[in-house]
Order: sequence, then C-alpha cells, then structure tokens
Amino acid sequence: MLDRIRIVLIGTSHPGNIGATARAMHNMGLADLALVAPRCEPITADSVSRASGADHLVHSARVADGLEEAVADCTLVVGASARSRTLPWPMITPRQLGSRLPTELAGEGARVALVLGREDSGLTNAELQRCHAHVHIPTNPEFSSLNLAAAVQVLAYECRLAWLEAAGNPQADDAETPPLASHEELEHYFAHLERTLIAIGFHDPATPRQLMARLRRLTLRARPERMELNILRGILSATERLAPRRNDDPAP
Ligand code: SAH
Repeated sequence: MLDRIRIVLIGTSHPGNIGATARAMHNMGLADLALVAPRCEPITADSVSRASGADHLVHSARVADGLEEAVADCTLVVGASARSRTLPWPMITPRQLGSRLPTELAGEGARVALVLGREDSGLTNAELQRCHAHVHIPTNPEFSSLNLAAAVQVLAYECRLAWLEAAGNPQADDAETPPLASHEELEHYFAHLERTLIAIGFHDPATPRQLMARLRRLTLRARPERMELNILRGILSATERLAPRRNDDPAP
C-alpha cells in the first residue's frame, strides 16, 4: 500500500525542504517522490544533509514540468492546503485520508498522490481544483501553515498508521518479535501452576471453585510470550522449593 502513495512537491524553493521531505517519507516507508517545477536545484549539500541518509529518494525523484504530468497515473489526488480557499472543496483531515487509503488502494493499478505547495504561496486555485479532495492538518487558525516537510511528515505518518492497522500490524510477522508460548507450553505451565497451588495450600482440588479456569482465562488473555511463561515457571519452581512438604507427599 505504501509503495502506491506518491508525494508531489510543487515549486519548492528550498533544497533543505526537499531533503527533509525525503527523510520524513523514508521514516514512514514511503518512497515515491515527484518534484513539479522545483524553483531550486534539488540535489545540494543542504538537501543531502537534511535527508540524513534518505537522499536516495531525492536522487530517484521524478521531476515534472506540471502537476498533470506528475499525477497522470494516480487514481486519487489529494491537495494539502494550509488555509481554506474561496471555493469550498471536499475537505478531509489527515486521519480521514488514512482511513480511506486501504479501500482506495485496493484496486489494481490504484495510486494516490498527495500534493503539497510552495513555501511562500502554497497551491494555486487551479492546482487545488485538480484534486479530488483537500487535506487540511488541523492547526492553530492564527498560525496554520506548517513547514513543508513537517506537513509531509504528518500526512506520511497517517498513511503509515492506516497501513499498519490495515495489515494487522505487520511487525508481528517480524523475525524479531518474541515467540508466543505454544499450546503445549501453556498446558505444562497450567499443570505446574496447579501442582504448586496445591503444595502451598491455596488450591484444594476437592473444592475447585473454578480457580484453575479463571487462572487459565487470565493467562490466555495475556497472550504470554514463551520467555514470560518461563519466568512464571521459574517462580513456581522457587515457590515449590519453599512449600512445606505435605503429609500425603510420597517419601523422597
Ligand atoms: N504560505 C503558504 C503555505 C506554505 S506551506 C500558504 O499560505 O498557502 C507549504 C505547503 O505545505 C502548503 O502548500 C501545503 O501543501 C502544506 N501545508 C502547510 N501547512 C499545512 C496544513 N496546516 N495543512 C495541510 N497542508 C499544509
């Protein structure tokens, strides 16, 4: 999904903002950057330094003469606007934009463009009217204009949040995610827990009062990791060692 979201900067005049935009995008997993009629040289010491290691996005950015060319293949074009214009347009918040993305991008060949304007004058009315909708980042009405790359950061963040939500947090698939306890490990734990609770006189199997069922429910609700279960079993073993030997225990 993120690979089908394009950030389009129109008429940018500060190379530093292009670099900072690349950084904001790369942080959020976006990679498609288009520059429409930049009013500065995109690749400078300033843009590379502000990109902080994401300057490959600046190098790979496509440069276009006009908005049309930059968004030709996009199925949804959203213009980012710092202020309301004379002609009202469908207006969405960054969060609403994010929530629309999974459906918008579900179709074959779907692609979304987020269009941002010039540092000094934003987007022209003609440009804004080429957008399906306008996104406004809610700000202090008396000081509503964000730095260009800061605006990209907010929008890209909402895209990422929506993507994570849609994918059911793909980081759960990450090899670095600690493994959860298996069913078998949980059953060993529950048996150990019951033995220990009996040994310390807390649990009487003759009058169970749903104790084990409740403890199971509690434990299963927590989705313990294998490591966490090992800690709990360590606690049980230490408890067992301290437990008074019961009369009915077999002789050692
Ligand atoms: N001074 C300009 C704003 C320039 S900021 C103006 O008055 O329009 C550069 C770009 O960042 C804007 O064109 C817009 O695309 C984006 N931006 C800045 N603040 C924003 C906000 N609050 N909501 C949405 N986009 C914003």
